[in-house]
Amino acid sequence: MKKKDSNKPNDETLSGPTGMLHPEKPLAEDEKDLSLRPRSLKEFMGQTQIKENLSVFITAARERNESLDHLFLIGPPGLGKTTLAQVVANELGAEFKVTSAPALDKPKDLAGILTTVTEKTVFFIDEIHRLKPAIEEMLYIAMEDYELDWIIGQGPSARTIRIPIQPFTLVGATTKAGNVSSPLVGRFGITCRFSFYEAADMEAIVRRSAGILNTKVDNDAAALLARSARGTPRVVNRLLRRMRDFAQIKGEPSITLPVVEDGLRRLEIDPLGLEKHDREILRIIIERYNGGPVGAETLAISIGESVDTLEDYYEPYLIQAGLIQRTPRGRVVTAMAYEHLKLEPRNGKIAGQVEGLLF
Ligand code: ADP
Repeated sequence: MKKKDSNKPNDETLSGPTGMLHPEKPLAEDEKDLSLRPRSLKEFMGQTQIKENLSVFITAARERNESLDHLFLIGPPGLGKTTLAQVVANELGAEFKVTSAPALDKPKDLAGILTTVTEKTVFFIDEIHRLKPAIEEMLYIAMEDYELDWIIGQGPSARTIRIPIQPFTLVGATTKAGNVSSPLVGRFGITCRFSFYEAADMEAIVRRSAGILNTKVDNDAAALLARSARGTPRVVNRLLRRMRDFAQIKGEPSITLPVVEDGLRRLEIDPLGLEKHDREILRIIIERYNGGPVGAETLAISIGESVDTLEDYYEPYLIQAGLIQRTPRGRVVTAMAYEHLKLEPRNGKIAGQVEGLLF
């Protein structure tokens, strides 16, 4: 089994309360828990529309004995893009190869992989919005013609030869679809947009993972965990492991509702599934920027995170939870954010309304 994306930081320092849910950064224990990863479409919970369509495309490709069309996966970290790519490979009975765009530094890095793919291999490139232009150009021809353009020699005697490669399926994943060039987007035949998981699907994931980890979870405890994990399977699996620790230390034979309630309090996760850092973001927009609008870069500096982390990880969930909105002039908090933090808007007015922006 190949290790997932060796280029992503495996930062154990994030296991403190503030960063523990940070699903964009797989922790060492996520890597260990490969057993939790669904292996088939049947085991892959939620995302029903995506699964139904893919199932048709996979069956059709198998019947024609062809490789599956290239697949573009869009969505926040931890929602199952890598998992789904692996599932597709399993369903096709094909080999699976993984890399990420930052690991492809030179054309030879890509050529090294593509010249070794076997027929119908599913080749997964994470963070595809970060491909270098020279690599992207090489990929165009590989995706379209299953050939590689290779330059031999240097200077005036240099010439390009075309090397045939096996038909393969590229799966490109991104958190930032807007940053992927349109020629590349145009070469994907299938696009899947992931949404945050519904509570019922999250509960099903808790139960499945608990079964694999050989841990008992009470129904009400599973429901609360499912609601507190920002609709993200990677987060719910991490929370489940932490609750298993709490239950074990308390000498409880199963994860009960009081264990989860107490555990979430200790991890500073509130009923909306927000971490301390999420609440700090809201508080900073309210207290320093009078509710907004505030630009992403200014906000990122204020919270001590990169713009990428703000936009890829924190914002999508805060937006989905109805706590902030993106407007052309920056981010604004909504009335719900004031309510959630139990703060009063200054002058009795909310920034977005003062500025005449949408709410
Ligand atoms: P991404 O590539 O989008 O960052 P991953 O594919 O690495 O996310 O998923 C993170 C973890 O969440 C996986 O290891 C897997 O255990 C779990 N997971 C993801 N999607 C599902 C799903 N649909 N059903 C059950 N577990 C899932």
